Amino acid sequence: MKNLQQFINTNGPQIQLFLFVGLFFLSWNIENIFGVLFNYKKWKHAFLNAPFIFTAIPGQLLIGLAFVKTIEWTTLHQFGFLYYLPVSKNSLLSFLITFIFLDLGEYVYHVTMHKVKRLWMFHIVHHSDQVVDVSTTLREHPGENFIRLTFTLLWVFLSGAAFWALMLRQIIQAFTTLFAHINYRLPEKLDNIVGLIFITPNLHQVHHHYKQPYTDCNYGDVLSIWDRLFGTFKKLPAEDLIFGVDTYMGKEDVGNFKSLISIPFGKYRKATQNLNP
Ligand SMILES: [Zn+2]
Ligand SMILES: [Zn+2]
Repeated sequence: MKNLQQFINTNGPQIQLFLFVGLFFLSWNIENIFGVLFNYKKWKHAFLNAPFIFTAIPGQLLIGLAFVKTIEWTTLHQFGFLYYLPVSKNSLLSFLITFIFLDLGEYVYHVTMHKVKRLWMFHIVHHSDQVVDVSTTLREHPGENFIRLTFTLLWVFLSGAAFWALMLRQIIQAFTTLFAHINYRLPEKLDNIVGLIFITPNLHQVHHHYKQPYTDCNYGDVLSIWDRLFGTFKKLPAEDLIFGVDTYMGKEDVGNFKSLISIPFGKYRKATQNLNP
């Protein structure tokens, strides 16, 4: 355990980056063989989402530095609720508690992004993708990227999470985020088992359905337990799924990068409530 912690402490950000890139290309090829959606221009779709890699860099660097400084401070002052627990901060149990707390943080963050109008305008950019595949993972407005990392920073501050635990969590998250967006569906029986604890592609695809109340369900990041606990868990058969956001389905709104990046600064559009998918 000690060696693993040291390795992650030294190489965490690099592992996260290499794993993300490696898994991205692995998922891309899995989609080419086992995908369920073929009736779209995959490369064209990916090119529209790819610029978000570059717009995310300034926020990542800035908040990345803030993470290092914050953890230095919490470690020095032994600040955060994890210091009050009767477990060693370097144990597996401590990692599990950190992991669950940070995952709950992601759930709270995601619900907030949907419920606060101004924040939703940033989050729409991710939801507006009318095809969900691995490149949708990249589609995040730089404003949302900044807000999300700031929120995680606050959560790390409150918990007093160790750097290695945060990095290991981010590494696991890199895998699960790609898995949730892959253009593939687990067989129903397997989905019922894996989905008891984890967010599966089948479950996240419901979150990407274009109409309420389905958009406001399955908020979980890695774990699906929060949705089950707080009553936001929903299923929808594959044949009923339409991806996107009903208020932003036009090409003029989501067909090019400039329109996408401008969405948060436009006028709020009210969604339609409809119980039929
Ligand atoms: Zn969402
Ligand atoms: Zn998504």
